[in-house]
Order: sequence, then C-alpha cells, then structure tokens
Amino acid sequence: MTVSPADYAPDVKSYEEFVGPPTDPEDERIEVGVVIVGGGPAGLSCAIRLTQLLESDSQLAESLGEVPVALVEKGKTTGSHLLSGAMMEPSAMRKLFPDVDESEWPTYGPVDKDTVYFMTKRRAIPLQPTPPPFRNHGNHVISVAQLGRWLGEKAEEAGVYVLPETAAAKLLVEDGVVRGVRTGDKGRDREGDPLGNFEPGSDLIGRATVLAEGTQGHLAGAAIGYFDMASEDPPQWELGVKEVWEVEKPLDRVIHTLGWPLRFGAKYREFGGSFVYPMGEDKISMGLVAGLDYRDATFSVHDVLQEFKTHPLIRRVLAGGKRVAWGAKTIPSGGYWAMPEQLSAPGLCIAGDSASMVNIPKLKGVHLAMHAGMFAAEAIFEALKKGDTTDLSGYDERVHDSVIEKDTHRSRNMRQPFAKGFLLGGAVANAMEISGGRFPGGRWHTHDDAQVGVFIGNRDKSYPKPDGKYTFDKLSSVFATGNATRDDAPNHIRIEKDVPLELALMWQNMCPAQVYEVPEDALEAARENGEIDGSKKVELQITPSNCVQCGAITAKGGRLTPPEGGHGPNYQQT
Ligand SMILES: Cc1cc2nc3c(=O)[nH]c(=O)nc-3n(C[C@H](O)[C@H](O)[C@H](O)COP(=O)(O)OP(=O)(O)OC[C@H]3O[C@@H](n4cnc5c(N)ncnc54)[C@H](O)[C@@H]3O)c2cc1C
Ligand code: SF4
Repeated sequence: MTVSPADYAPDVKSYEEFVGPPTDPEDERIEVGVVIVGGGPAGLSCAIRLTQLLESDSQLAESLGEVPVALVEKGKTTGSHLLSGAMMEPSAMRKLFPDVDESEWPTYGPVDKDTVYFMTKRRAIPLQPTPPPFRNHGNHVISVAQLGRWLGEKAEEAGVYVLPETAAAKLLVEDGVVRGVRTGDKGRDREGDPLGNFEPGSDLIGRATVLAEGTQGHLAGAAIGYFDMASEDPPQWELGVKEVWEVEKPLDRVIHTLGWPLRFGAKYREFGGSFVYPMGEDKISMGLVAGLDYRDATFSVHDVLQEFKTHPLIRRVLAGGKRVAWGAKTIPSGGYWAMPEQLSAPGLCIAGDSASMVNIPKLKGVHLAMHAGMFAAEAIFEALKKGDTTDLSGYDERVHDSVIEKDTHRSRNMRQPFAKGFLLGGAVANAMEISGGRFPGGRWHTHDDAQVGVFIGNRDKSYPKPDGKYTFDKLSSVFATGNATRDDAPNHIRIEKDVPLELALMWQNMCPAQVYEVPEDALEAARENGEIDGSKKVELQITPSNCVQCGAITAKGGRLTPPEGGHGPNYQQT
C-alpha cells in the first residue's frame, strides 16, 4: 500500500480559523468602499475598472467615503509576488485601456512565430502544423511582475488606495455577509511573541470584498468552504519553475516542448511541458510546468528544469548567456469542472486563479483573470447603485456569459486523461481539440493531488550537478528572488513533521526553495542492504524563511498561510 500526502494532513480548520466577525472596536475599524485582496492581474483590473465606473457617478463615489477602493497586496509592491510564462492574450488589456495604444503596454510585443518540439534526450522534433493550443500569433510576451507594477501605477493614478506589504489574514463575516478582511500582524518572533516593532493587524471594512489572491488563495479557500461554494470536483494544480536569461543571440520564435525530460510511464504520472519565450532582443524566459499528481517522491520540478537546460536545443539558446531571475508558482489546472459552483456569496466575489480560471492546455490565465476582475467591478458597481451589495450574482452571470466560460468549457476534459499516461492523455486531448471540445463529451472528473500515492523511485539519478553557470542548486535559485522573509518570523507553513520517509522525501524534492529537509542520519537509518525503507518515520526539518510562496505544499498535503506582509520574493522580471 502506498502512502499519500492526504493521510498526513495537518489539522487546519480553514474556515473556522480564517473566517470570523470583525474584532476591532467600531470606531477603530478602517472603513472603505470596496476591499480588494491581491494585486495581481485580477485584483488590479477590478480596482481600475471600478474607479473608471465610479468616475461616471460622482455622487456614488462620494457616498463611499474618502477611500472608495482599497487593495491589499502581501508582496513588497504589486508585482513582487507575480510569476507567469508569460504569453498574454490581449483582449482584456484592450477592454481595460481602450485609449492606451498597444505600443505603450508593458510588453515585449506580439509574437508571430511558434514552434512546438517533441523532445527526446538528444533530439528535438518539430510538430507540424503547430497544434492549435500552442498557436500564439498576436499574443504578447510579458513579465507579469512588470505588468503588476504598471497596473499598480495605473490603479494609484486612478485613485485606488494600494496597501502593499499587507497580507489579508482573515475574512470578516457577520450575519452571513462578508464585511471585509482583517490584515495580518507584523513584527512577531518565531514563537509568535511580539517584537519591539510589533504592529497588530486591522479590520478593513467595505461594502463588498473581492478575493483575487491567485493560486491557492488563503481566504478564497476558506470562503469556498464557509459558503459551501465548491464544485463536486476538487481543484488540481501544476507547479511551474521559471528562469529569465540574458542571451547573446536573439530568439526568433516562441518554443514549447513536450516529452523529455518528463517520463511517459503511466505509473509516474508526469504531465507537463516547457516554454521558452523571447523577451526582446537580449533576454528569454523559460520554464517547466508539471502536474502535482506525479508519484515518484524524488521528482523535483526545479531539478527537472536544470536537466532540461542540458538539451542541445536549449543549450544553443542559452550559449554564453547568464541567468538573471528565477521563481516558482503553482497554477490551478482543474479547469471548468473544478471552478467553484458559485463565484459570489453575500458581499463577496472570487476572481482569477483563486477560482481556477485557467485554460491549462493553452497555459493562459492572465487575460481570464483580468476579465474576471472587470466583471466583478461591474457587478459591484451595479449593486452599489441599487444600494444593496449582498446579492452579487450579477458577477456569476457575467462570467458564465463570457470568454472565461467559453475558453474553460472547450478544454474542460483535456487535462484529466493525462492521469492515465502521456500517450493516452495526448490522444484524448487531441480528439477534444479537433472536435472543438465536443468529443469525448461527458464529465471527466478531476482528482485531489494530495490523495495520489507516492513511492521512492529514481528520478533524481539523472539531475545534473549544479555548475553555477547553466545549472543551479535550489538555494542559489531562492537567492535570485530577492527573498525578504525574516529568519526569525513565525512559521507560516502548516505541515505534519513526523511522517514516513517517502512523504518527507517527496516534500523535500517537491519544494523548489529547499524549505524541507530529511536529516542525513534519518535517511541512513532507513537504509538496509542498499534499499530504503520508505515507511520508516522521520522528523522533517523546516526552514520557512526560504519559502517563495509557490503554493505547492497546499496542493500536496500541507497548508501555506500568508506570512507577514512584505516577506517572500521580490520578483522583478518573472
Ligand atoms: C509558470 C507559469 C506559467 C504561466 N504562463 C502563462 C502564460 O504564458 N499566459 C497566461 O495567460 N497565463 C499563464 N500563467 C497563469 C497566470 O500567471 C495566472 O493565471 C494569472 O497570473 C492569475 O492572475 P490572478 O490575479 O488571479 O493571480 P496572481 O497573478 O497570482 O496574483 C495574486 C496576487 O494576490 C496576492 N495575494 C494572495 N493572497 C493574498 C493575501 N491573503 N493578502 C494579500 N495579498 C495576497 C499575491 O501576492 C499576488 O500578488 C502561468 C502561470 C505560471 C505559474
Ligand atoms: S514551502 Fe513555500 S516554496 Fe516550498 S513548496 Fe511550500 S509554498 Fe512552495
């Protein structure tokens, strides 16, 4: 019998711990018009659209007080915690900024050449014609960390009160209606005791609240449970690890790859692929994305990406170049069936990745998140005009009648078949693509990544030794993020530490930031006649200050909670 992460889930009662009534005395609460959590594409688009709409109704804007729209972001600034491929479909930018010329967008311009390769260890075979999900003609290459900063400036110019370095720690609900959020405390030590610079959190109260927390939303997850909004299908996740390189020769096309270094065998369940995008003349972004339902405990997306860079095709692209940025993040991949049944609750909307709004075969979520944010703004504006924001179902209606529904519905059964192996999965996904999403029909259920059993295999045997030039270890990767988490901050990761070795090893390998370590002596003690006894219990060592908040641990048996505002990576180009 194999062990699964779900067998050792920590005791986290998400909506009992993270949902509650306001606690500050009434005169100390911070009252604003609308509260938005998350300065990513969804949250910032919501904030900007709302200010545009309020401009047309000054009386309504005035009635919302001194701060009609407030947005909290846990990163150092909007963009600091953002990471994406990123190839952006432009429709949402056009809608949000009808008067801004495309040449003024913070992008590296549109794409006109695509190649998809099927990879073996030495060869790269182009797939022709380019399979439809990989066609990106007209899409723009971006850094979402840069887009976040640009949108943040636009939001502030429009009058949005942006609070960076502020984590929303608790959802405030009173009489069944969302009232806002409580921000997290700052300045506690490892044991949770206040330091000299301690600042308690505050209740931020608004007439409506939008959760746009992105992947693995801390409050979104709690709200979905509290208001019973979940779909019957669980969400699923992929983990993406990305690097930005300065290169000597400009890359003249967008590259996607399938196959090596991922393994085909159904028993490994390794699903994913890579991307290599040109960022202007002198830079490229590249990354590898893999499903978190893999089974080999020695599989590590960070190290598989290092291996990928040893391929002759990729080596040619990187030749003479220098790595200038690194990062990691999860992507919701449950798609249409895993989207919450309801996207709104009294006083609340959930937008973007927090509601699984990603088209995984196309690897597109930025424009869907932006559209969702704008729809939330429009529904809230309509409700504010009526004088009652308890019913925000206008948001659900807008999403269901939009590109978000159309896009995710078309690809609704494409990810699930890959649980049966790459070849069968590929054949089914192809049939789905050719038939415009009609065949095979029905509802292919998603599964919980944490319930997939793991075993100790040998994936780690082929990872290259870091050479510090083309291949790197995890700690130098974390260093490249500008991570600002205090070493003595309270542990923000909830996980069982006393677990069978196969789970401990799986976490050690999974985490791209080297947060988990199995002590060497425990590993030795589990070795008998050269074989490792994976069922032996070990005590996992944790270094939470390395965490880059990618979210993988929440998918695979633990729970990430937001650390103190300002902690974590300070991504600039990812
Ligand atoms: C490796 C990778 C490659 C991808 N490639 C592409 C691509 O090429 N094209 C594409 O369109 N999409 C791509 N995506 C998906 C895309 O990046 C996401 O769909 C998109 O960023 C979602 O936007 P969002 O605003 O919902 O969430 P996010 O971009 O995740 O933003 C959420 C923000 O909320 C903040 N936040 C979260 N919780 C809290 C809290 N409690 N308090 C305060 N702040 C909080 C976070 O710090 C973050 O800034 C990719 C994703 C990954 C990981
Ligand atoms: S500890 Fe942090 S960086 Fe590591 S897997 Fe969990 S969320 Fe990602």
